[in-house]
Parts: sequence; structure tokens; C-alpha cells
Amino acid sequence: METETPGATENLWDSQNAEGLSDLEALAYRSNLLGRDRAVANYGGGNTSTKARDRDHTGREIDVLWVKGSGSDLATIEAGQFTGLKLGEVLALEEREEMEDGEMVAYLASCQLRPDMPRGSIETLLHAFVPYAQVDHTHPDAINMICCAEGGEELARECFGEEVVWIPYIRPGFALSKQVGEAVKNNPEAKFVLLAKHGLVTWGETHEESYGRTVEAINRAAEFAASRAGEPFGGRKVEPPAPEKREALLAEVLPALRGALSLGLEEPSHKILRPDYTSENVLTFVCGRDSRDLSQIGAACPDHLVRTKIRPLWVDFDPENEGADELKERLREGVARYRKGYEAYFSRHEEADEEMFDPNPRVVLIEGIGLVAAANNAKEANLSRDFAYRAINVMRGANALGGYVSLTEEESYAVEYWPLELYKLTLAPPPDELAGRVAFVTGGAGGIGGAVARSLASRGACIVVCDLDEEGAGEVADSLAEPSIPARADVTDEYEVIRAYRRAILEYGGVDVVVSNAGLASSAPIEETSVEMWDKNHAVLVKGYFLVAREAFRIMRDQGLGGSLVFVASKNALAAGKNAGAYSSAKAAELHLARCLAEEGGPGRIRVNTVNPDAVLQGSRIWDSGWREERAAAYGIEPDELEDYYRERNVLKLSVLPEDVAEAVLHFASETRSSRSTGNVLNVDGGVKDAYPR
Ligand code: ZN
Repeated sequence: METETPGATENLWDSQNAEGLSDLEALAYRSNLLGRDRAVANYGGGNTSTKARDRDHTGREIDVLWVKGSGSDLATIEAGQFTGLKLGEVLALEEREEMEDGEMVAYLASCQLRPDMPRGSIETLLHAFVPYAQVDHTHPDAINMICCAEGGEELARECFGEEVVWIPYIRPGFALSKQVGEAVKNNPEAKFVLLAKHGLVTWGETHEESYGRTVEAINRAAEFAASRAGEPFGGRKVEPPAPEKREALLAEVLPALRGALSLGLEEPSHKILRPDYTSENVLTFVCGRDSRDLSQIGAACPDHLVRTKIRPLWVDFDPENEGADELKERLREGVARYRKGYEAYFSRHEEADEEMFDPNPRVVLIEGIGLVAAANNAKEANLSRDFAYRAINVMRGANALGGYVSLTEEESYAVEYWPLELYKLTLAPPPDELAGRVAFVTGGAGGIGGAVARSLASRGACIVVCDLDEEGAGEVADSLAEPSIPARADVTDEYEVIRAYRRAILEYGGVDVVVSNAGLASSAPIEETSVEMWDKNHAVLVKGYFLVAREAFRIMRDQGLGGSLVFVASKNALAAGKNAGAYSSAKAAELHLARCLAEEGGPGRIRVNTVNPDAVLQGSRIWDSGWREERAAAYGIEPDELEDYYRERNVLKLSVLPEDVAEAVLHFASETRSSRSTGNVLNVDGGVKDAYPR
């Protein structure tokens, strides 16, 4: 959507689409257009309103202010997500000189048309006090290039002349709303209000007019900034290495960074990392001469603070003369230093009863390489990355216009620890059991693998669905509730295994749970067992499990956060049976490998456990192969009698389903369920006496 001028946007109004819409529907339409370009309205930020006639609960016709409800996003908001307020009651507040936030929120709640509507935005009063039917308030990149520039007021005047009113920075709330309302009333020639270090307010008699003015203001500001732009960020200081080199470097260092970013609180708080080492804007920034200093000035808008913190971590790096080891060390040191700095910032400003947030950076900038965003889940990490893009755009423009200025430390703290924001956090649901975790599942396209992936995703883990069958893995990944990617690998090939983990690292930063489940099976009496059959079983079930575990250990040790490996073996690993020597001996080796690795992993809190299913026929690729016929022949029955045969063979007389196995895997995968268990075996076979562990 971004045109060639940085920060410029397109007028997307389509009269045909807007025709016949109700007032509220038109408001939703206009809001969606604004949200479609994130350089205009970032996620959750900005708000829109309309004033219309409606009926209250008595049936009386009254003036109603419809304003975006707290917690919705302009890009996706629907008519039902706006809050209706009795305008007459709201406007009574114009008489007041001041009003404290809490009182204002309570007052507005009493003005709601219906009590079950979402709480109105904190900027609601701004919409009420501007005496026009339609009001838009956004935080566009191009506007903030001026609003965050040294001498912003003069620049605004140069850009917009008499059509603009400038309002110095104050935290959103009653006083700001009142100032904006008065500014519009007292300046009939004004078309735009610019809020220093914050954003834009426009208005109009119609939806199209208000929207059009927002677009006009943005494009005029973007043109203005572009006309003054020199070399971005003071020109290039370092040359970025080739894309493959940047990628390889990040694949090596991200697990260490992820570990560092997940510590600092009493318990590790696992983070999902979202790097960007390819966008031109990001590269221009991290290679720029002024960027290091610019990045440390502060946030570009109150709206950014919760997602990016007051500033990112900048890490010096010389791509030409330094390598992964130096960078890892510097990232660890940098994060530790950042936490100390954040704790000091908190203690300088803290007031009674405030609890410090996670002191780790949300955005890490690596000189010459790219940026890495981090948060407790993938959605939040994506948002941190998006807000970092916004900040980069604003800094680039403001720097060119004469220097970037941001919220001061006091202003930042007042927004970050704003009681109203803290209140919002108390309403958020508790984090999922596996939030922030990355799970790597081999054989992920099959019956058990798919069930495991679904189960772990439903508890909040990001999933890497690894399989020889990339298409099947893609289908499973697409069906999951949480972010997930497919990764193709033949687990018997060490380089393919390394490549698959690399995908996990570049996508999410590392790995916490590895479910080694890739499998095959064969059945034959010993005299008829070919060397090929023997080798294949041992290649996949022993060598493959070794390779997948070895790489997991390397990554987990770099992270320093412990981890959980779950081997999906078989009842046959414990129970001796005839005509499956190649398979069963390989499964036994797999089980013993898990126990050996439990010993090795223990000191690093890497747990290794085994789940032994038996005869899981549903959705299984193994059972679709010759194995079904072979097993049936071994028992002297027909292939379609196998389900019944297996059910009757176990003590509980139950069929074993993929979901049953997934439940056992979840037990070992989850710290909250099994942090004290390693080297263990859990049978999921309906009870087969020969396989009872002893
Ligand atoms: Zn705002």
C-alpha cells in the first residue's frame, strides 16, 4: 500500500462500497480503510467516531456519540464494536476545568447507551468535544515525522499554514480532549490538529470528508518530509553482508538471544522471536550512521510504548570482521545491561503498588544485520515488530527534518505504567500453558504427529510440523490454532535435520519441545528380514532419533532454558514379540537412547521421556502400508480384523487413538505437568502385560 514517498498513503474511498450504508456501517467502513495501511493506523491504535440520532432505553430520540470501543482494531472493527454514548450527558463535561482519569472513565460508563457495550476509548472525549459529526484520530508515520521533529510546530506551520493547529504534548485524557475541542472551535479555518509526539485529528460533516482529510494531511506531511530528506539516517556506516550470510548468522545466534531475553524474572518467561533481516527499511536503518543514537532517544508515540518499551536494545556489530561467537556474547551482555537499565528506570519513577513489567527489551537491533522482536507469544512479537517499523519510519523522517525528539523518560513512564493500561492488563486472560514455547514435531503429517501438533498448539505453542511429506506437513500446519510452519526433513540426513531446525529458529527463535515421532514399521520372520529392511528401521528409528535429539540439545544448551524431548516409541520397545525383530530392536534402542539422554540432559534441565503407544491404527501412515497385512498374517487373521484383535489383546479392551498418545506427549512436554520427570516411560497401549515397565 505504501507508495514511493515514505509514509504516503492512498485514498481508498469507494463511493459504490459506501452507498446505502447506515451511519454505523459507514463508520466501520471508514475505520477499516484507515486500518488497512499500518503506516496510517497501527494495530489497536487510533480511534474514529460519528454523531447520530438514536433511541435510548425509554424510546426517546437523542444525540448519540458512537466511538471505537477499547480493545478493537480499526482494520477489522465492525459496527457492533463501537460504543454508543448519550452525547448530551457527555458534553456536560465541557464545563469542567479538569477531570482525573478514573473519574472520567466511570462517568463515561454511566453515559453508555447500553451497559453491555465495550468501554469507550480513553480518547473518547476528544471525539465528543470536536463539534463535527465525524472525527478521526490516528498516529500516522508521516504526521509523526513532523510531530516528533525538533521544531515541529514551525515545521507544521510550513507544511500546513493556517490550516493546522498544534498542541504540545500531554498524556491523552481529559485535558488533551478539552484542548483539541477548543482548538477546533476557536480556529474555524483549521482542517487538522497535530498533537506533538502523538498524532493527528481530523473531522468533517461526512464520513468521506473526514477520511479524505486524514489522507490529505498524511500525504502533505509525507511530501513535505520527502522534500527535505537527505541520505536516510545520515548515510551508510556499514555494508550489510549478503542475505544468506545474514540468515546463517541469525540462525546461529538467535537461540542464545532467545535464552537471554527469557531470563530476568523469577521464573524463565519464554519468548517468541520474530526477526527481520530482509526488509529494505530495516536494513537501511541498522546500517545507518545516525541509527545507533537515534534508536536510543525514545518512543515515537505513546501508542508504541507497551509494544516496544521506551527504547530498543542496539547491539554493535562489525559484519566484516566479527562472527557469530562475538555476536552471541554481545547479545547476552547487551540484554543483561538493558535489564539493569530498565530496572533503574523503573525505580526512578515507580509509585506505590506498581509492579515492574518484564525488564527485557522487546526489540533488538543488530548493526548491519537486522531487527529481532520478542514477546510472550507470536502475536505480540509480530506487533512489536510492526511498531518497530513505525518507529523506524518516524525516526527517518524526523531526523531529516532537523532532528528526532521523543517522549521524555517521565512521559514514557507515565504512559507505560498508566493505571488505565494496567487495568486493561488485569482483564487479559491468563497465558496459555505452552505460551511462548516452540514445539518441533517430526512425523508431523501422520496420525499421531498431527494429533500431537493440534494438542500442543491448542495450549499456545508455536509448532514446526516436520515431515518427509512437506505437503502433508503444510496441511497440518494450516489447520492449527497457533502460528505454525511446515519443515521438510528426512530425519536420517543430518543436514536436512539441521536445515529444519534452522527454519524453526528463523521463524520463532529456537525450540523448547521436540517430539520425535517419525516412524516406519516392517514385519518379517528373521530368516526373511533383508539387510535393507534392517537398515531402514535402524536408520529412521535410531539414527533419526539420535540426529533430531543431537540438534535439539545443541539449540537448547545455547538457550539455557532447559527443554523437553519426547520420543514416541512403541510397546514393542519393551515387549518381545515374533516376526518384527528389525522394528522392535530399533524401538528398544530408541527407548534406551532416551534414557541415556535423560542422564546427559538433566543438569541442563533438558528432560527426555518416552511414550509407548501400541496399535494406533487411526490416521496412521504406517498402518496404511504393508505393515497391516504383515501383522495380520503374523497373527493368522484378516487385515480388517486387526482393530478388534488389538482391542481384545489389551487389558482395558480399548482401541488406542492418536489423541490418547497426544495426551501422554503433552504431559511430558509441559513443565507445569511433569517438571520432575525425566528418563520415564509412559505406555499408551490399553494395558499390555508384557510391556509393563519394571
Ligand atoms: Zn492517540
